[in-house]
Amino acid sequence: MIIQGPKGTKDVLPSQAYKWHYVEGKIRDLCSVNGYYEIRTPVFEHTELFERGVGETTDIVQKEMYTFKDKGGRSITLKPEGTAPAVRAFIENNLFNEPQPIKMFYITPCYRYERPQAGRLREFHQFGIEVFGTQSPYVDAEVINVGMTLFQNLGVKNLELRINSVGCPKCRKDYNAKLKAFLEPELQHLCKFCQDRYDTNPLRILDCKEEKCKERLVNVPFMLDNLCDDCRVHFEGLKKGLDIIGLNYIVDPKIVRGLDYYTKTAFEIVSNDIGSQGTVCGGGRYDGLIEMCGGPSTPGVGFGLGLERLLLIMENQGIQIPEQESPDVFIAAVGERADDKALEVLFKLRAASVKAEKDYLGRSLKAQMKYANRINAKTAIVIGDEEIEEDIISIKNMKSGEEVNVSLSDISEIIREIRG
Ligand code: ATP
Ligand code: MG
Repeated sequence: MIIQGPKGTKDVLPSQAYKWHYVEGKIRDLCSVNGYYEIRTPVFEHTELFERGVGETTDIVQKEMYTFKDKGGRSITLKPEGTAPAVRAFIENNLFNEPQPIKMFYITPCYRYERPQAGRLREFHQFGIEVFGTQSPYVDAEVINVGMTLFQNLGVKNLELRINSVGCPKCRKDYNAKLKAFLEPELQHLCKFCQDRYDTNPLRILDCKEEKCKERLVNVPFMLDNLCDDCRVHFEGLKKGLDIIGLNYIVDPKIVRGLDYYTKTAFEIVSNDIGSQGTVCGGGRYDGLIEMCGGPSTPGVGFGLGLERLLLIMENQGIQIPEQESPDVFIAAVGERADDKALEVLFKLRAASVKAEKDYLGRSLKAQMKYANRINAKTAIVIGDEEIEEDIISIKNMKSGEEVNVSLSDISEIIREIRG
């Protein structure tokens, strides 16, 4: 029986990994310029962290987590997102005692039990950044700009930046009452999930993807029109920051992050090139989260960006990624003595950082040369008894067919010729 990979997972094959390296390289360069340092947290955490840090009423916690008991009877969950673990590490390692703000990034696998489809997997990868310790709306603008700049640096086009403010616990209390008054007569027409959300987390109803719910919400009051002074000033500051940076945005009052500790800024970066899973990056401010997780009251802002969706957009937009370097040289050998010599030369070349390959399958010379072509070797050397005796080999440029003769015992000369 053939064992298959679990549903919703994907292998990155050796021939494809260069795409990930390329994107990850761009991410690391970008974070370095912007002053974000990497944090690596475990793939699993105590389940309670996500229940508290993501929120009991979210889809993630209610439906999507990979939760199990370990052999010691503890409830463990594979990380469904990166913010809660970063917050836990911030608190546990007393990072609040270090100079603020703390700016970090991560590239991590995430696990969510969802219905797999294009751009939606059960194991996927996120690039995320978090800034802890400042309330400045300009830092929200900076965070958004890091996301937008990544797309720009990768040559990704046609993205929409959508921003909103979800207020704070103070203004949301009054707004929730208004919202519920509006929703009450509509309730019977909404989907089952929204009926539940009405009691637990009414703001999330604005986020429902069901057509029949959307239709009922045409005249719904928005948080954005009901902000307190503090939140309104903050939102103005964010827009000013984005204007100074020169980023275009659309104010979209429907964007929500419907939890008490998500505050003020909420944003999404959306692509129209990958169908319905168009949101490639989502983030916002969470001034109540660190306290909620047991730390000192500390503001925070960040985003999560899906790397599979990013790669999908790049593919759909026909963006070329530089391919991995092919071998500098293939060393073909005829006969046992030559094969030993080839092995010796192979490792001398590699010791000098020349990407060299030889045959390990005992193939004929013709088959070896065919293989050298298949792997795109830039040059090829053939070693036989004659070459060893006369101490001379020819280095063939596989593209032009040009050949040069050098001494087989002069490794530095061989290297010079291979490097052209
Ligand atoms: P969606 O509405 O598409 O389910 P989300 O609101 O659950 O997204 P976030 O929790 O904000 O997504 O995660 C940030 C980003 O991670 C998303 O914008 C998306 O690019 C990516 N992402 C989320 N879930 C998945 C998944 N199951 N497979 C692949 N990428 C995902
Ligand atoms: Mg989701």
